[in-house]
Amino acid sequence: NKEIADVLHQLGIKEQNPAYSTGLAWGGQSNSNTRDIHSPANGNFIAAVNMATPDDYEQVVKTAQDAFKVWRKVPAPKRGEIVRQIGDKLREHKEALGKLVSYEMGKIYQEGLGEVQEMIDICDFAVGLSRQLHGFTMHSERPEHRMYEQYHPLGIVGIISAFNFPVAVWSWNTMLAAVCGDVMIWKPSEKTPLTGIACQHIIREVLAENELPEGIFNLIIGDAEIGSLMSHDKRVPLVSATGSTRMGKKVGEAVGARLGKSLLELGGNNAIILTENADLEMAIRAIVFGAVGTCGQRCTSTRRLIIHESKYEQVKERLLKIYPNLPIGHPLDSTTLVGPLIDKDAVAAFSNALEKVQQEGGRLLTGGEVLSGEGYESGTYVKPAVVEAENHYEMVQEETFAPILYLIKYSGSVEDAIEIQNGVRQGLSSAIFSTNLLETEAFLGHWGSDCGIANVNIGTSGAEIGGAFGGEKETGGGRESGSDAWKVYMRRQTNTINYGRELPLAQGIKFDI
Ligand code: NAD
Repeated sequence: NKEIADVLHQLGIKEQNPAYSTGLAWGGQSNSNTRDIHSPANGNFIAAVNMATPDDYEQVVKTAQDAFKVWRKVPAPKRGEIVRQIGDKLREHKEALGKLVSYEMGKIYQEGLGEVQEMIDICDFAVGLSRQLHGFTMHSERPEHRMYEQYHPLGIVGIISAFNFPVAVWSWNTMLAAVCGDVMIWKPSEKTPLTGIACQHIIREVLAENELPEGIFNLIIGDAEIGSLMSHDKRVPLVSATGSTRMGKKVGEAVGARLGKSLLELGGNNAIILTENADLEMAIRAIVFGAVGTCGQRCTSTRRLIIHESKYEQVKERLLKIYPNLPIGHPLDSTTLVGPLIDKDAVAAFSNALEKVQQEGGRLLTGGEVLSGEGYESGTYVKPAVVEAENHYEMVQEETFAPILYLIKYSGSVEDAIEIQNGVRQGLSSAIFSTNLLETEAFLGHWGSDCGIANVNIGTSGAEIGGAFGGEKETGGGRESGSDAWKVYMRRQTNTINYGRELPLAQGIKFDI
């Protein structure tokens, strides 16, 4: 594909064959352990990448440690200036990078562009933040003493990211950590390494222009083995990991065992509640995009629809009209709304979930087919499914990372709906559609939604970078991006300064010397 070859070239990924060396720009050894990357859009080979070895990992850590000695001394607003330049470079490369995200991961081009825009936005946010890394001052109980707190860089931040947001989630972590004075080691998903390599090229240029070591931002291409090395590594004080709950439990355990810090952003099982007072016109748009957008592969995708019995049939009828006509196709085709799943394993998981939920009593209303024929040769295109189900079914309790929407009927009050919505192990995103203030406030109250994100009259999917992003329960409890999420990337220090000539001891202790 000439167009994609041009995009790779433009982004600095020049060698497709032999295997592209991993982005270990400081001279990491390439090795024979390569992985072929195919596009889920058409199954075509894009490039082969070298997978890092444990020796490569060692070298990356050493490079990061050396760079930390330089970077932590750079004043925070100057670090912000570097991030500003990175944001500018991302603006220059927005179309090419957006296209590569789309082609490598399979999300539609507009979403690929949206993902790059999120990176640009977080750069802007981090630039402002670089002048606001502030702590409190407190009054001391001792005379002529002053107390305050300050935040210092942590050191190496390990970032493990998932395939579905191949670059945005990394940028949320890395741009904040960078202005905080940390150095980063990023291990992107082994399914989407090329966008990572492209970003590393962009950053390398900025660092070189500013005569800074590339080891401030490190990239390592590898699989779970490299992620596991990072989780167990005492030299990495913070590991931020985004992905499945299964992975998060392993990372959390390994980091916890060495009393390191982890920031976990794991799976969701997000619901929209439609009460009897819902504005259906607004709700339907949110539901459809939430459930089928990114082919159901967002952590915030809408998986459950909890509908008041008075509206149930009407909603079902509307969805059954819309679903059969969804434009499913190549993600770079501007008329497409639903692209492919990431790979054939994901297709199998989709089909298995549908089979199992039907065995449990669920009723498949529409969709569920795996598409074949012209345009669908990759075998990764499916028809989004709608299933009537009950919340306690095992499959409904699980996150299947594919476009399956479960319709769940409730009767009674909004509190009954909230109980259903909270009745799963995950706690990422939630939404209510209602024009009744009593219902929406109940949803947001202490006894309301137990999720990290709770929306009113907008859907579950997507988030603005200004707010802290993350979820509770098996979603892992981490928060990243906006608000005061930056604090996790720093260590807090309380300082007491005596500017008198006496040394009053705490607790009134007196002794002669
Ligand atoms: P995954 O768990 O298979 O892989 C995610 C990353 O973890 C990859 O880089 C992988 O190599 C690494 N990894 C896997 N096992 C590991 C181990 N034992 N130790 C260290 N690293 C390991 O997830 P995926 O299929 O890439 O992504 C989909 C999942 O990610 C979904 O569950 C989705 O909800 C979740 N997700 C969550 C958020 C969020 O912010 N909460 C955002 C995006 C995706």
